[in-house]
Amino acid sequence: GATTTKEFPSSGRLIVLTGPSGVGKGTLLRALLQRHPELYYSVSMTTRSPRPGEINGKHYYFVSRAKFEQLVAQREFLEWAEFAGNYYGTPREAVLNQVGSGKLVVLEIELEGARQIRTSFPSAHSIFILPPSFDELEKRIRGRAQDSEAAIARRLQRAQEEIKAADEFDIKIVNDDFETTVKALEADLFG
Ligand code: 5GP
Repeated sequence: GATTTKEFPSSGRLIVLTGPSGVGKGTLLRALLQRHPELYYSVSMTTRSPRPGEINGKHYYFVSRAKFEQLVAQREFLEWAEFAGNYYGTPREAVLNQVGSGKLVVLEIELEGARQIRTSFPSAHSIFILPPSFDELEKRIRGRAQDSEAAIARRLQRAQEEIKAADEFDIKIVNDDFETTVKALEADLFG
C-alpha cells in the first residue's frame, strides 16, 4: 500500500521490483531513473563477478564471499539471498536513511529478497515484471553470451519458480513493448 507505517515515520516509500533474470528489469529501471531523478536506486552488494561494462559502486558493490558473510553476521543487510550460486544483498543503512528522508527507494531484487522485505516492511509496494513468454525469456537469458551454460540453466530454472510466485505481488506488468512498460510503471508509481 501507499501509506506510511511505524517503520517509516516520514513520507518515504520502499518499492520492490522483481521479475525473472533476463526480463529487462535493469533496462526499465534505468529509464525510470533517467526520467525521475527523485527516485533513489539502492545499489546492491554481490559476490558475482562483474560483467563487461559493470562498474563497482554503480551497478553493484562487488565483494568476496568472506566479506559478504561477515556483513551478514553484522546484520548490514536489509535482505539478502543466494541466487544462481552467488550472494546478493541490500545494504541496510543507505536504504533506511533515504526512506527516512522521504525518498522513494527502489530495490531491484529477486523473489526471496522480495519476500523478506514484504515481511519486514508490510507497507512496501511490490511490482513483478513478467516476460511476454518463457521462450522469449530464454532467448534473452541466452543472449548474455558471457554467462556459462551452467549459469544459464540455473537462471532458467529459477525464472520458472519466480514466475509462479508473481501473484504474491501488488501489481504485475508484462514487459512486451518497452515504452508501454515504462509508462505502466510510471502510472503505478506516480499515477
Ligand atoms: P544479476 O546477476 O542478473 O545481476 O542478478 C541476478 C538476480 O539477483 C536478479 O533477479 C536481481 O534482481 C537479483 N538481485 C540483485 N540485487 C539483489 C539484492 O540486493 N538482493 C536480492 N535478494 N536480489 C538481488
